[in-house]
Amino acid sequence: MYTNLKHFINGEWVESTGNETEDVINPATEESIGQISLGTKEDLDKAVQAAKAALPTFSRTSREERIEMLEKIAKGYEKRKDELVQVMTDELGAPLKFSEEVHYEMGLAHFKKTAEALKDYKFEEDYGNYKIIKETIGVSGLITPWNFPTNQTSTKIASAIAAGSPMVLKPAELTPFAAMILAEIIDEAGVPKGAFNLVNGTGSTIGDGISSHPDIDFVSFTGSAGVGEKIMQNAAKTIKKVALELGGKSPLIVLDDADIEEAAKIAVSHISLNSGQVCTAATRIIIPESMKKDFGEAMKKAVPSFPVGDPLDKNVVTGPLVAKKQWDRVQSYIEKGIDEGATLLTGGTGKPDGLEKGYYVKPTIFTDVSNDMVIAQEEIFGPVTTVITYKDLDEALEIANDTVYGLAGYVVGEDQETLDYVAKNIRAGQIVVNDAEQDRSAPFGGFKQSGIGREWGAFGIEEYLEPKSVFGVKVPAKA
Ligand code: NAD
Repeated sequence: MYTNLKHFINGEWVESTGNETEDVINPATEESIGQISLGTKEDLDKAVQAAKAALPTFSRTSREERIEMLEKIAKGYEKRKDELVQVMTDELGAPLKFSEEVHYEMGLAHFKKTAEALKDYKFEEDYGNYKIIKETIGVSGLITPWNFPTNQTSTKIASAIAAGSPMVLKPAELTPFAAMILAEIIDEAGVPKGAFNLVNGTGSTIGDGISSHPDIDFVSFTGSAGVGEKIMQNAAKTIKKVALELGGKSPLIVLDDADIEEAAKIAVSHISLNSGQVCTAATRIIIPESMKKDFGEAMKKAVPSFPVGDPLDKNVVTGPLVAKKQWDRVQSYIEKGIDEGATLLTGGTGKPDGLEKGYYVKPTIFTDVSNDMVIAQEEIFGPVTTVITYKDLDEALEIANDTVYGLAGYVVGEDQETLDYVAKNIRAGQIVVNDAEQDRSAPFGGFKQSGIGREWGAFGIEEYLEPKSVFGVKVPAKA
């Protein structure tokens, strides 16, 4: 059992001032794996005051000291690899292989890449008769979702440390234990007391408290667009800066010269990895009309390459969804797709054969989808995808951009000029051509309703800084 009923405030694990607790459920077994405390506004305030008290000294730590902290955290994280991999399998239902190769690795990459970016980050620069100093924004509030427990927390924590911003983290209540291990690692790495605080709790108490707290200067939030909107409204009352990493309904355009089998496999991988609970997942597969029959066949053929089942089984690619609520939500979208008249190519409602216990969903592919259907416009966040046909490239791009979101875009094909043209014309923060490997220091974030701001590497650090213009001082900028 992972039970830990304390919060991490001012360098120590402290009892909650309330007595409400919550069970954390393993979605594969539907059983509790431990409890956390649901913190109170008083717990949050203690954490914010600790962060505020740490601000004058933490914000003046040197670049070298911050690099050392990040490198020590990375080392501590590596030492606890087995535990981190296991906890994300237990609390999220991520298959062990995915937990190790993606969840664990992404968390680690952020500490390492941010330390690297910090080495040559320019905090001071001369411009004509003035200089610009980039200074810590103040106290940061970090609110994270459940779908990538160490990735989301690590990118925010690493950037805040790099910028010298003391922070209060509220991890998702569905997956709090990976973040609590991270808190232990951060503590052991010698991050000064008060600079990192963790308070568990609900969005409506702790999340809301963070976005409205007058002593928090900046909120970095990852989660749904609806909650993002509430956070912005709340933050407006104290004119707080917000960075929002929200949802997506990303397009994958298949060009007419693409290898059909390869493209279909990429399309299916997007709804299989992390059970489709990925904000950047391509869930609108936009294919040439002429490819319709062959592409459908190829997708059906690709589905068994991503076996669904027990996350502890090393051969399994797709585990359960995170929670019953998420399972119900995905079921209702599958029903909606059927009602809207889309063709169910494979999958459907109910659980896959032999997987009655656990929140498993059948990988579901809809064809004959038009882009105005609900299943093509709303984020489903499960193993469900839609296939939409186009007549020419202009129409493909029009469909791709006909969404309120703009988090990611994908294109598969051969002709380099067309690939480049499509990459330039999808309105989204991250474009991946032919399943290219991504670098964890590239700016990550969304256009339109997918968010505001960027994370990862130097762009991530930038969010936690304020530029200050200084006129008349003759001392040249430091570096
Ligand atoms: P969510 O918005 O329900 O919750 C995210 C976090 O916000 C949780 O910690 C939750 O407790 C907290 N929260 C809830 N209500 C709040 C409130 N009123 N005020 C402040 N905080 C509150 O999202 P989720 O279900 O945990 O995650 C799934 C969503 O996250 C999807 O929409 C997905 O696309 C998005 N997401 C985006 C990215 C990205 O980088 N763009 C990455 C991962 C997930």
